[in-house]
Amino acid sequence: MAATLIDGKAFAAKVRGQVAEHVARLKEQNGITPGLAVVLVGEDPASQVYVRSKGKQTVEVGMNSYEHKLEADTSEADLLALIDQLNNDASVHGILVQLPLPKHLDEDLVINSIAPEKDVDGFHISNVGLLGTGQKSMVPCTPLGCLMMLRDHHGSLSGMDAVVIGRSNIVGKPMAQLLLGDSCTVTIAHSRTEDLPDVVRRADIVVAAVGRPEMVPGDWIKEGATVIDVGINRIERDGKNVLVGDVDFASAAERAGAITPVPGGVGPMTIACLLANTVTACCRANNLAEPEGLTA
Ligand code: NDP
Repeated sequence: MAATLIDGKAFAAKVRGQVAEHVARLKEQNGITPGLAVVLVGEDPASQVYVRSKGKQTVEVGMNSYEHKLEADTSEADLLALIDQLNNDASVHGILVQLPLPKHLDEDLVINSIAPEKDVDGFHISNVGLLGTGQKSMVPCTPLGCLMMLRDHHGSLSGMDAVVIGRSNIVGKPMAQLLLGDSCTVTIAHSRTEDLPDVVRRADIVVAAVGRPEMVPGDWIKEGATVIDVGINRIERDGKNVLVGDVDFASAAERAGAITPVPGGVGPMTIACLLANTVTACCRANNLAEPEGLTA
């Protein structure tokens, strides 16, 4: 393997350490403990695992974690009433509603009912607009984690040619906005893109967020490019269940200058950035200086 490995697990631990230091300062100097409320509706097993992990890491960095578990048949009115209560609770600085929601609930309506300044997932339409217009916003966690790793590896991203494969609202589009904000020349590719290999071959930075196992082979990668693999795909290989990304790691690592592995790349950064967003939201709510390096 020629490429430098971008170790998301180690980077996430560093981010959690920075968050923990800032939380300790907030407690000591201002008597404030940041609080994150996570709302889970129903019993989706994967969501339960995520929520448990978020709660555990929130407590580990010294913040308050408030978990609200609601029955799968909770009415929209009851969910909105809980969000309203959390919006008005001064001890709650971040609110996250775990997605996906059961079918009878309108996700857009629910997300847009969270106070934008507490929307630590960055999915509220106001935050989307603020990010799109280059203003201070809450930034979606997964793309924020990718940006942090890219900045750490390259310093300045200015003038680099970046391709984001995938145009979802939670990863692809905000990722492209962040790269544009850092003065990359950005292409967003998707399922209708013509000659995707050629588009990817031009890129100094490739962010793959597709959800198709090992779709990007090494020979699409420009020599020395940086590859950020957001994909998390569970496949069976040699009779075992394994996690792979959207990039064929072995062949891409032969050509890339740097690459994130799956698992251990982007994945661990997502919750670390959720914690970073919560401490940022807490500082903004109290007109205090934001931690450096933890926002876009
Ligand atoms: P979506 O399914 O919402 O979006 C996938 C995107 O990929 C779409 O824009 C789609 O294009 C595009 N696409 C699909 N097939 C192709 C193709 N053959 N060529 C080019 N583009 C294609 O996925 P998400 O953005 O939610 O997630 C993407 C991946 O990232 C998944 O594996 C997911 O598990 C992972 N993920 C990881 C996270 C982490 O913490 N590491 C967090 C969030 C997601 P079109 O719009 O035209 O359909």
